[in-house]
Amino acid sequence: KVRNAHEPEFLQAVHEVAETVLPYIAQHEIYNGKNILLRMVEPERAIMFRVPWVDDKGEIHVNRGYRIQMSSVIGPYKGGLRFHPTVNMSILKFLAFEQVFKNSLTTLPMGGGKGGSDFDPKGKSDDEVMRFCHSFMTELFRHIGPNTDVPAGDIGVGSREIGFLFGMYRKIKNEFTGVLTGKGLSWGGSLIRPEATGYGNVYFAQNMLERKGDTFQGKTVTVSGSGNVAQYATEKATQLGAKVVSLSDSSGTIYDKDGIDAEKLAHVMFIKNVKRGRISEYTEKYPSAEYYAGKTPWHIPCDIALPCATQNELNEEDAKALTKNGCICVSEGANMPCTPGAILQFQHAKILFAPGKASNAGGVATSGLEMAQNSLRYSWTREEVDDKLKGIMKSIHNSCIDHGEDPDGYINYVRGANIAGFVKVADAILAQGVV
Ligand code: NDP
Repeated sequence: KVRNAHEPEFLQAVHEVAETVLPYIAQHEIYNGKNILLRMVEPERAIMFRVPWVDDKGEIHVNRGYRIQMSSVIGPYKGGLRFHPTVNMSILKFLAFEQVFKNSLTTLPMGGGKGGSDFDPKGKSDDEVMRFCHSFMTELFRHIGPNTDVPAGDIGVGSREIGFLFGMYRKIKNEFTGVLTGKGLSWGGSLIRPEATGYGNVYFAQNMLERKGDTFQGKTVTVSGSGNVAQYATEKATQLGAKVVSLSDSSGTIYDKDGIDAEKLAHVMFIKNVKRGRISEYTEKYPSAEYYAGKTPWHIPCDIALPCATQNELNEEDAKALTKNGCICVSEGANMPCTPGAILQFQHAKILFAPGKASNAGGVATSGLEMAQNSLRYSWTREEVDDKLKGIMKSIHNSCIDHGEDPDGYINYVRGANIAGFVKVADAILAQGVV
C-alpha cells in the first residue's frame, strides 16, 4: 500500500530524491537503518484552514488556506506562499519537501515549509486581494514568527500580496519583525530579492557553462513563464550577452526572433505587473513577434532553455524536441518543471541539466539574507547582496559536483543536489535524536 497515493506531485518529488539518496544511504553506515528518509517525508505539521472573504459586490467566498511545516531541523521553516486555483496538499507537500533540500543547499540555517491557497488573484481587484490576504493572515499569524516560520512569495504572491499579509500580521501582533520576506525596500525588504531567483538561475547555468569553457555570450535562450522568475532570468541572460526569444503564460507563448531586449522586457513587466494582463498583448506593441496560443516554448530552437513557469510544464516529447534542435543546457527556474521522462532524456543526451532545488535556490538564499539584515537592523548594498548571491550559487554548483560526478565525467546535477542537500539535514536529524 502506497502512503499518500492520492498525492501524485508529492510522490513524484519524493521518488526523484529517493532514487538518488537511497543508494547513498545504503553505502554509508551512519545513515543506514535509521529510517531517515521516512522521517523526512512526513511533515512536522500540516495546517489547513478556512479563509472567508467578501468580494466587491458584497458576496462572501470561502477559500482553503494551508501551511506545510516540513522540517525545522536546521532552522525555522522557510518557503513561499502560492495563490493559485490548483493549490492542494499534494502540490504544497511536494514544494515543501523540495524546499527542505534546497534550503539546506544554500548553506544558510533555514528549514523547509510551503503554503498558500486555492484563491485565484487573477481578475480580482486590489481591494479584493487585500481582503483575502488580511483574512488569510488572521489565521496564519498564530503559526508563524521570525524564529518559527518565515513565509515568502511564490506563484500569485508578489510584492502586493506580501504587503497586505505583512500589514495584517504587524497589526495583530503589534510588532515589526522579519516574519515575511520579499518585503518592500522601505519596510524591511532586501535589495536584489525581487531579482534573486531569476538571476540565481542564470548564475547557476553560467557556472555549468563555464566548467565546459562556455558562456551565455551569443546564445539563443528560451524562457517559459512571464512572472517574477521569468522576467529576471530574461534580464540577466540578456545582460550576459544572450538573446532571449520567448516568454509564455498559461494561455500561450510569444516568440520574438530579434530577442526580448531591456526595452521590450520593461514592456512585459508593465503588461504583467502593472496591467496584470496576458503575454499575448506583447504582439500588439511588437507585431513582428509571433504568438502561439495554448503552446509552450519548447519547440523553438535554442541553445539554452530556462523553464520558469510551473511544475511538469516540460515533458519527454518537449525534451526530445529541445535536444534534437541542439539545446546544450536546461536550468530549472521553476520548481519541478521537467517531468521525470524529460530529465532522463536530457541525461541520456548528456546535456547540462540543473534541477530547480539547486538552480532556483537563489530566491530563498536572498530571503535568508533579508532575514539576516532584519535581525541586524541593517541593509546591505545592491552590490553586496548580488555578490553574496553569486557566491552562494557557485557554492551550490560545487556541492552538486562533489556528489554528482559520474565515472565518465558527466555531472548528474540531480544526484549531486539531492545528496548534498540530504547530508546536512540527515546529520542534524541524527544529532537531535528521535524527535
Ligand atoms: P509568478 O506568479 O510571478 O509567475 C508565474 C508564471 O508562470 C506566470 O507567467 C504564469 O502564467 C505561469 N504559470 C502559472 N501556472 C501555470 C500553468 N499551470 N501553466 C502554464 N503557465 C503557468 O510566479 P513566480 O515567477 O514567482 O514562480 C514561477 C515558478 O518559480 C514556480 O514554480 C515557483 O514555485 C518557482 N520559484 C519561485 C521563486 C520566487 O522567488 N518567486 C523561488 C523559487 C522557485 P499566468 O499569468 O497565466 O498564470
